[in-house]
Amino acid sequence: AKAAGRRTYMRYDDSMEATIRRRATLAGALHKALDRGELHVVYQPRQSLATSRITGAEALLRWSSPEHGEIVPAEFIPLAEENGMILEIGEWVLREACLALQRWRQHGLDGLTISVNMSVLQLLRGDFAGVVRRVLDDTGVPPQALELELTESVLMANAAQTAVKLHAFRELGVSLAIDDFGTGYSSLAYLKRLPITTIKIDQTFIADLGHEPEGAAITTTVVAMAHGLGLNVVAEGVENQVQADFLALHHCDEIQGYWVSRPLDAVACMAFIRNRQPP
Ligand code: C2E
Ligand code: CA
Ligand code: CA
Ligand code: CA
Repeated sequence: AKAAGRRTYMRYDDSMEATIRRRATLAGALHKALDRGELHVVYQPRQSLATSRITGAEALLRWSSPEHGEIVPAEFIPLAEENGMILEIGEWVLREACLALQRWRQHGLDGLTISVNMSVLQLLRGDFAGVVRRVLDDTGVPPQALELELTESVLMANAAQTAVKLHAFRELGVSLAIDDFGTGYSSLAYLKRLPITTIKIDQTFIADLGHEPEGAAITTTVVAMAHGLGLNVVAEGVENQVQADFLALHHCDEIQGYWVSRPLDAVACMAFIRNRQPP
């Protein structure tokens, strides 16, 4: 028994070491990934429930490494945040996303919004509003067509500092969304004071619709609260008709998820949006 216990302990130790080694290897590879063209951006459409029109898309980062295969953002974005690379990568994603939107606009697709995820490091860095303004200038995207997504935990962890930064973005004219809403610990009073425009209900609550009563209670409450504050509400991770119907019935504004479309490359997304526009 003693030997077995010891073996178990050793195995645990080995796997910890393997995890640390993989993180170090990936962090090193990530340094070269951007220059080598291993990163790319995919776009997931968002749909209005009232009109069925596609309102825009969210930019999602992908890493296809020749050595390590497809690595999901949940694994490499924390690494990029740790070593500061997220600043460079984040600016690149922002530029790519704006270039894609501008191409769609040049092909006659109007009134679309491009949403880009922002890490806390980007937000707190001195001149990120300046970076955003420059990217908008360079690409020709109007500020109204850009939405920046921030997670709730980010906003709450740096409350005073973020409020100041967010006002700078709003002055630029870009929209601000709270991502993964409901998973953090927002004070509703605080929410009222932030210059946000959109709330994205976290997909865990949407997954519960039709199964757990809490999912429906939280969803309907968030929609009512958001509308009371004059905010746009998006449901994330919508995968089936039951969920979409429930959200439409309860006046959620927009849905995003596999039910509308998987994330697509820029060309495929443009074709998708065009096919869905009313004639
Ligand atoms: P997120 O911002 O909450 O993005 C939504 C995630 O849900 C995406 O995962 C998307 O592919 C996935 N998803 C969309 N529809 C469905 C659905 O119907 N069902 C299910 N089960 N999942 C769905 P992804 O692309 O793996 O991204 C994971 C997270 O990585 C994102 O969560 C975001 O926090 C972060 N991320 C992605 N791209 C960027 C980026 O450019 N910058 C930063 N800072 N973070 C990013
Ligand atoms: Ca997001
Ligand atoms: Ca989210
Ligand atoms: Ca998330």
